[in-house]
Amino acid sequence: MARILITSAIPYINGIKHLGNLVGSQLPADLYARYARARGHEVMFICATDEHGTPAELAAAKAGQPVAEFCAEMHVVQADLAQRFGLSFDHFGRSSSPQNHALTQHFAGALADQGLIEEVSEKQVYSNADGRFLPDRYIEGTCPNCGYDKARGDQCENCTKQLDPTDLIDPRSAVSGSTDLEVRETKHLYLRQSALKDDLDSWISAKTDWPILTTSIAKKWLHDGDGLRDRGITRDLDWGVPVKRGDADWPGMEGKVFYVWFDAPIEYIAATREWADATGRPDADWQRWWRTDKGADDVRYVQFMGKDNVPFHTLSFPATIMGSNEPWKLVDYIKSFNFLNYDGGQFSTSQGRGIFMDQALSILPADYWRWWLLSHAPENSDAEFTWDNFQTSVNKDLADVLGNFVSRVTKFCRAKFGEQVPAGGDNTDAETALIARLQSHLISYQNHMDAIEVRKSAAELRAIWVAGNEYLQTAEPWAVFKTDPERAAACVRLSLNLIRLYAVLSAPFIPDAAARMLSAMNTLDTDWPVDIKTALSALPAGHEFSVPEVLFAKITDDQNADWSNRFAGTRD
Ligand SMILES: [Zn+2]
Repeated sequence: MARILITSAIPYINGIKHLGNLVGSQLPADLYARYARARGHEVMFICATDEHGTPAELAAAKAGQPVAEFCAEMHVVQADLAQRFGLSFDHFGRSSSPQNHALTQHFAGALADQGLIEEVSEKQVYSNADGRFLPDRYIEGTCPNCGYDKARGDQCENCTKQLDPTDLIDPRSAVSGSTDLEVRETKHLYLRQSALKDDLDSWISAKTDWPILTTSIAKKWLHDGDGLRDRGITRDLDWGVPVKRGDADWPGMEGKVFYVWFDAPIEYIAATREWADATGRPDADWQRWWRTDKGADDVRYVQFMGKDNVPFHTLSFPATIMGSNEPWKLVDYIKSFNFLNYDGGQFSTSQGRGIFMDQALSILPADYWRWWLLSHAPENSDAEFTWDNFQTSVNKDLADVLGNFVSRVTKFCRAKFGEQVPAGGDNTDAETALIARLQSHLISYQNHMDAIEVRKSAAELRAIWVAGNEYLQTAEPWAVFKTDPERAAACVRLSLNLIRLYAVLSAPFIPDAAARMLSAMNTLDTDWPVDIKTALSALPAGHEFSVPEVLFAKITDDQNADWSNRFAGTRD
């Protein structure tokens, strides 16, 4: 038994996430967590909401709420959706927690003690009407390049030209629209990432088993252009973790907060502490996951994220940990994902294009989505959601293959033998061949899951379902029953056991359906199989079961057409 720490990139607070976000981190992390638990490992699975930064402030202002209240409400919304999608976090924390405040301030202090924090004077735009400094992207004006009148201070959305706020013609505040702006001097703290470049480089070079997507992005940021740059860790904002050096005030930094990129990954640690605090456990219980001097040496730490988050997790967060010179756990494996596109374009939160988590659950149960998203996970390249592909995949894999097997076996047994596992008959060559085939698929399935090869794992699971269907098709218990009921009984007994086995193996992908299958089979035996033959005799003759409701309904052409229209455009 191993100890596995799993974190999913933490979703930003300002709105409901779309399915592309879900499949890029939280969902595959859940798949792996469920699998690892099923194999008997001790798992700590952590996620949280990422609550600081200007976008949260602006979203709160738009909603007419104080930002703390807005974040508290949105956290509940996201936690509820995560739970309904079956995301089995041990704790779903909040980056605005007191635990994260304390840890973020602690890390900043430790980095300063190591000489890795530098004070830098900068010129930044200040809005007199708003009484605050404005980040570049919250200054709007006319693009000097193309004349677009809603260009942002960092980039023109129309012609994509990179800009400085001072390039804009007629600049104004995106917060209030005020043109009463001036450039002021302000001091910020920078993390001297460049001083850690060689340490980071050799650490990443040693990770030969990481996905190429992960290491190639990290190496690009390390070596392209001027190489790894120092990075500001503070902002002139109200909402965030106040800048402190550990417990002490930081002279000259009054009224400033840490930059959201700095405090967000520290929340992985803080959320584990939140878990311990919320469940009345001592500090040792969270520290044994994170402190290598307190037991975390034998922890395997795996992170899940979309490719846009790779630089922070391969460079900035490790720089924080290494630079602290304290014995914190570094990540062992980073599983990163490409993007999921939506029906010929991109998912867009701002335009409401694509399917969002709440909408998805309003039309179909979570398992339909979990299966499609995981079996089409954007691992080696970007992937695309289309309604036709979704319909085909659900109807074939879930309804025709898995659902149909469960329905046929249980209904046939009820009709001919009653609702209990039938006695009589012995295994023949057909069963021996099936068992050998399943044993080989099981080994492949485990190997792919251990390697976190999500698509390959899904394909192998599907092959396991297909093997049962093909066996049933060849063995034909409904035909054999007329002449040799004992033979039919042996076939049905094995097939009912196969339903239990399918439930156990499928649970990481489709936990609700797996639970319904187990419930129909009237068993709490969820032991992961070692030997297929033994596993297929778990339910003995005479064991009672019931015929479940239809596991998966087919998606009709009308539904397909209706839904593709409904989600093509702007979300209300
Ligand atoms: Zn432009």
